[in-house]
Amino acid sequence: MFIAPPIHKISVVIPVFNEQESLPALMRRTEAACQQTGKDYEILLVDDGSADDSASQITLAAEAEGSHIVAVLLNRNYGQHSAIMAGFSNVTGDLIITLDADLQNPPEEIPNLVAAAEQGFDVVGSVRQQRQDSYFRKVASRMINRLIQRTTGKAMGDYGCMLRAYRRHIVEAMLNCHERSTFIPILANTFARRATEIPVSHAEREFGDSKYSVMRLINLMYDLITCLTTTPLRLLSVLGSVIALCGFGFAILLVILRFAFGPQWAADGVFMLFAVLFMFTGAQFVGMGLLGEYIGRIYNDVRARPRYFIQRVIRQDGENKEKVNQ
Ligand code: UDP
Ligand code: MG
Repeated sequence: MFIAPPIHKISVVIPVFNEQESLPALMRRTEAACQQTGKDYEILLVDDGSADDSASQITLAAEAEGSHIVAVLLNRNYGQHSAIMAGFSNVTGDLIITLDADLQNPPEEIPNLVAAAEQGFDVVGSVRQQRQDSYFRKVASRMINRLIQRTTGKAMGDYGCMLRAYRRHIVEAMLNCHERSTFIPILANTFARRATEIPVSHAEREFGDSKYSVMRLINLMYDLITCLTTTPLRLLSVLGSVIALCGFGFAILLVILRFAFGPQWAADGVFMLFAVLFMFTGAQFVGMGLLGEYIGRIYNDVRARPRYFIQRVIRQDGENKEKVNQ
């Protein structure tokens, strides 16, 4: 069996965007939860270009004597997942935990995540029990989670929940992915050897509103799908070929019927016009599908993810090297 390295230090990464009301309770509760694990810890608060008092609160907390808080300040708003990546690039722990700043995911679950990771898992996800969000969000979320389960074949239930733990090598592998739009839980799963999920509780948002408008949610959904797969582009070529075949078949049928029943049947040339039209439409779809295939490949090359990812090399000559990329 693969023996997972021990966890000495925990890094908690929290993206913060206009959360000044939640911050005091967030810091207090997260510190308490980290202390409970009995391990060394740091809390990275990433200010994602907040317009309120969040950035100065975070800075003050980080500057305090003996503070475990690390402030990462971004110059403007880049979005939740980019903010988390910015936090990742500054972690020093062996296990990295992500958490939302709005206290919808209770920090008290951190010890459970650590315990699950210590059983040898690289990625520990979480499933929100009795999720406290709008009906629309819950339904949309359920549909997307089903889609992901179909695509990946992995039975992870809740990709939207950011209360997750990743071992260091997974985070380093993610940092080696240079694409602009990332969806962290999906990306992490592509590098995980062993992943699990634990149930966690979920609270209602106490202060402020969700930072996701409908437009931003749609954007997030596209990030998720493109991070996961280029299948939609493949669908274009499959669907295109089917439509093209139907078009050609129908066009030929029209021509045959025209010769069998004469010009009268074919409405004096109108049907022949349709036959030509169908053929062109079919050809267009084939062309589009072909373009889709090329674009899919270009996309894969442009984002230049590491081609493979070696977690560990074990040799007899003494030195066990741990490699994180390429
Ligand atoms: N967030 C962020 N940048 C953004 C939007 C959100 O850092 O552009 C943070 C936000 O402060 C919170 C987390 O991401 O800590 C989740 O946001 P929110 O609670 O609004 O999302 P929801 O719970 O509605 O999915
Ligand atoms: Mg929230």
